[in-house]
Parts: sequence; C-alpha cells; structure tokens
Amino acid sequence: MNLKRISLIAVTILAFAACKNATQTTTATNDSTKATMYFGGDIITMEGDSANYAESVVVKDGKIIFVGNKDEAMKAAGDGHNMIDLQGKTMLPGFIDAHGHMVYYGKNLMDQSLTGVKDISEIIQRMKSHIAQIPGDGWIVGMGYAPLKMKEQRHPTADELDQISMDRPVLVVHASGHGGSMNHALMKLLHIDEKTVDPNGGEYVREKGSKMPAGPMEETALIDVRNQRPAFTGEAADKVIKEASKIWASNGQTTAMECGLGLGADDISIVENAIEKKILPIDLVVFSKESATDDVVNTAYGIGEAYSSKSTGSASKLLSDRVDLDKRYINRVRLGGIKLWLDGNPVLAWMSEAYATPPPGREPGFKGYGQIPDSVIFSFFDKYWKTNMQINMHVNGDEAIEQALRATEAAIKKHGMSDHRPVFVHCSYARPDQIARMKAVGAIPSFLSFGLYGQGDEVEIIWGTKRASNGMAAQSMLKAGVPFTLSHDAPITPPMIMPQIWAAVNRVTSSGKVLGADQRVSPYQALQAVTSAAAYQIKEEKSKGTIQAGKLADLVILDKNPLKVDPMTFKDIQVMETIKEGNSIFKLSSTVAYTPVTISDHNHETGHQKPLSVSQQKLMARLVQSAK
Ligand SMILES: [Zn+2]
Repeated sequence: MNLKRISLIAVTILAFAACKNATQTTTATNDSTKATMYFGGDIITMEGDSANYAESVVVKDGKIIFVGNKDEAMKAAGDGHNMIDLQGKTMLPGFIDAHGHMVYYGKNLMDQSLTGVKDISEIIQRMKSHIAQIPGDGWIVGMGYAPLKMKEQRHPTADELDQISMDRPVLVVHASGHGGSMNHALMKLLHIDEKTVDPNGGEYVREKGSKMPAGPMEETALIDVRNQRPAFTGEAADKVIKEASKIWASNGQTTAMECGLGLGADDISIVENAIEKKILPIDLVVFSKESATDDVVNTAYGIGEAYSSKSTGSASKLLSDRVDLDKRYINRVRLGGIKLWLDGNPVLAWMSEAYATPPPGREPGFKGYGQIPDSVIFSFFDKYWKTNMQINMHVNGDEAIEQALRATEAAIKKHGMSDHRPVFVHCSYARPDQIARMKAVGAIPSFLSFGLYGQGDEVEIIWGTKRASNGMAAQSMLKAGVPFTLSHDAPITPPMIMPQIWAAVNRVTSSGKVLGADQRVSPYQALQAVTSAAAYQIKEEKSKGTIQAGKLADLVILDKNPLKVDPMTFKDIQVMETIKEGNSIFKLSSTVAYTPVTISDHNHETGHQKPLSVSQQKLMARLVQSAK
C-alpha cells in the first residue's frame, strides 16, 4: 500500500474533519470550537498517592486547560463556553488498556460464538443469523461448540452445515480449537475430496464405507483448512477495528492495546487499513509478536515516512535514525514495541519448584516449562534495550520471571541503565527476592486480576496455597516501590476495567473465598493501576493518566464513585460516558444493554481462565499431551 501520495496537509484536514463529525453526532448541543466546563460531580484527578478532588475541569481543543474551583474555571473557559453538569456522577482520567489484544478480539467478533449450544440445530440457527453480518462472500465461521455437551454428542456433518449455506464456505470450530467441521462449499473451494490424503497428525473424517470427507476434521487437518481462510480486507477489516474499539470505548478506555500484532497473518494489514481510513475513535498502541517484528517495524517505517516529510532509509536504520517513531500516534496508532511469550498460562506456568498438584496429564515434580531460549531473548534486549521499542514479556511463573530478569540484568550490564520499563505481563507468581530486582531494573508488572476470580481456586490446587495467595503480589510490589497495572488481556477476559479493579481490591475466587488477603489493594491503588500507572507503563504519563492542565482530555464518567461504595459492588459500576480528546465517543443510552461480567471461552495463547469442569480437565489433559 502506497501512502506516500497522501500529503501531511491533507491528512491533517481529514483528521480535523473527522473530529468535528464525531463531535456533531455525539454532543450535538456543544460547540467544539469553544471550551467545555465539567462540574457538579466527583472529579478524581488521580494526581498523587491519595484521592484529590477537583470542583471543575475545562477542556478545549482536545486538551485539559484548567482544573480547579468553579469560579476560576468560568474565567479560564472564556466567553460562551459549554457547561456540562455531571449531576453527581464521577469523572476520572480515561482508562488505559495496559494489556489486551484489541485486533485479535475484533477478529473474534467476526465469528459466531457457538458456546453453550445444546444441539446441532442450534448451531445451524446461530450460524444462519450470523451470515447477514459478514459482508461479501467470505467464510462463515463459528467457534466454541462442545459435542460432549450437545444432544447428539458429535460434530455436525457437511450435510447438516449445508443448511446454513449451500454456496458460502462454512466452518465451525470446536471449543478446544483442535477439531471442527466444514460444509460442502468449503470442501469444494479447498479441493478437499476423496483423493485428499490426511496430513500428518490430523484426519478428515470420511463418510461411512467411502473415502468422501464427511465434514468433521481433527488437528492438523483443521489447521490446514483454517490457514486458508482469506484475510479480512475492505469492509470486513473496517468492521474488525470499528466494532472492537466501540466495545473498548464503552468500557471507558481511551487507549487500547494490541499486544501481539502478527499472531494472525492479516493483523498488520488490518491496522494499516485502520490508519489509512482513520477508523479509530481511541488510541491503539501495538506491540509486535516477536516473530513478526521485522514486518511490523518495516510497515511502521513505511507509514511513518508516508506521513512525514523528512527522513529516508531502510528499516534496519529505523532505530538509530528514527527513535521517535514509536512515540508518535499516526491516525491514533502507535508502535509501542514487541511482545515475547516466555511461558504458558497459569496452569502451565514455568516455576522454579514443583507444582503442589501436577496439572492433568503431568507427572509429580512438574514445574511447567519455558518457551524461548535465553539467546533469543538476549538478542531482542541487545537490539531494543536502548530504544523506545519497549519489551513486553508474558511471564506467569517465577522461573519465567527469572529469565526475564536475567535478560534485563544482562542488558543493563552490557549497555547501561535505560528508562526502558520492561513490562512483565501477568507476572502471576514473583518470588519476594525477585520483586526487589524488578524494582532495580525498572520493570512493571501488569496483573490480570480478574483471573483470581476465574481461575484462583484451580491455581491454588495446582500451585499450592502459599504461591497462589502470593500470586499477583500487588501489595508487595507497592511496598517495594514497583508500580503495577491491571489488565484484562481480552479476549481472555472481557475488555472491561471495573471487574479488574473489583478483583484486585477483593481477591475473591469463584468459590467465594478470599485468596491472599495481604495482597489486596485499596480502591484508589486499583484505580491508579488503570490510569496513572498504566500511562506510566506505556510511557505516556506526560499526556495521559491524570486530570491535569496540559494533558489530553481523555476522560471517563462513571455512575458511582468507586471510592465511596462497597468494593464488592465495583463490578456493577457503569461507564456513563467516554471522552477522547474532548469528543464524546460513548454515551450509555437505554438502547445499550449492560454487558454482564462473563469469562470468555475463546482459546488464546495464554489459555483460558475458567475453573475446569471434568470435561475441560480431559481437554486440558489432551492439550497438555499435544504440547509435549
Ligand atoms: Zn495477552
């Protein structure tokens, strides 16, 4: 894609036009050229280590221009300004997604959920209703059915899936992601017939007494089929970003993250499309999956060049010539750095000592395992430690954290200290001795606190009580002077902020017990973890994370003040409005149904967060087996 023809001036004009448009549609009564003054509610600035309230906030040209008492605010706002009475509601800085996968989530939205279907006719019915939402002649995909929970106790056949569509390709994928079924249109498209040989490690189930594929397929056969799914382009690519960012915004987030760009082959082009068409209402920081880094950096360089008048050179020169590249948003997208996966999900976390109870399919003494050799991690640190390409590492167990520390400490020894702020994503079990070392290297843990609720009981059995109750050691981090953040890791849990705050403050598991009472944090500390600390983590604390004059007018309005209600009710606090750089981008209306707090069944590289049922334990055993 050649973006060079778009001049900087044209881009600026278009961006401005887009902003005005958004303002007109969402806050019709306000004149966007004038200042807007908010008053009449609890305005928590999030400046400092305890709650500070302001009487009013004045916003102009996308920025906060005044915070303070009402009389002075009236003066600061100038003639004919807009007045917005918060009517007792609570205003906070816009929430910042400290670890999520917005592009991945958006792509999942393009598939029909088949979670909880009771029988094959329900699969057909749900898939039929989904067709209309998928533009063009693209594949119709459904995810998440579980034959053992269905009346028929089997996968649907091609004949049955033909009832969804005779001419459009239909694929349904089992909840485990290891099996699925397709209709005849998809078989025809991919030339899968009686002559097709089963791939190594997989199988196309055949019709009885014949070699004709019957629809269902297992393992590598399914992978072969899924790999041929066309990339999301055009209207479908627009929809991935539009729908996902709408959900992020409706949960008060003014900055989103994709921490693993390149997991899907079409990820980069989807983001490029969003940049070119200026689709995003909120900021999106992307971190490339380690194996896609060169592609992502090359693309970012190309886009950076297209949107700027200066600089030439090759991608390899990027980091020396254009260290500023990742600091700038272009049409709301910024390249933040890279993402490495050092170990598995919490029940496969890489530990220094054996699990208390081995997970299904594992021998006593099992400690989990690492995923990347030191040499690879060290080389990324060599390359990026002194740059603004920030390194995010998925680490759950203390041995994975040890590897992350080893790499960071080696980089410091070799290159000197840097304000790099390596992110220890999840950081589920850090030993006390490691926390001091995290402080020394400037590391920031980002906890998936809602996992305490979803998976806490199961993790306690597998890790043992001592490690589980010191998991996500938020209070220990604070005592050691390490700022922490809270993150939903959507689609692992829903892209909602309040449940994360609820979990960090209460640490209640799904069985109702408190796991690790000593690690609970105060409501204010939890709010810092999604505002000021999150801004610090993504190195945008100069422009985001607190309500202060000079910062961006990224704001969220809640129906209740989290500092004044029973912490057990946090999950029910509603986002009433989200404001991005002065523009209202989401308002709760009676037509918007409240999204209940549920845990996604979607599979993901970090695993699922639900307590395991018996059938899931069997599945886990199988997953573990297949990972061997
Ligand atoms: Zn993640």
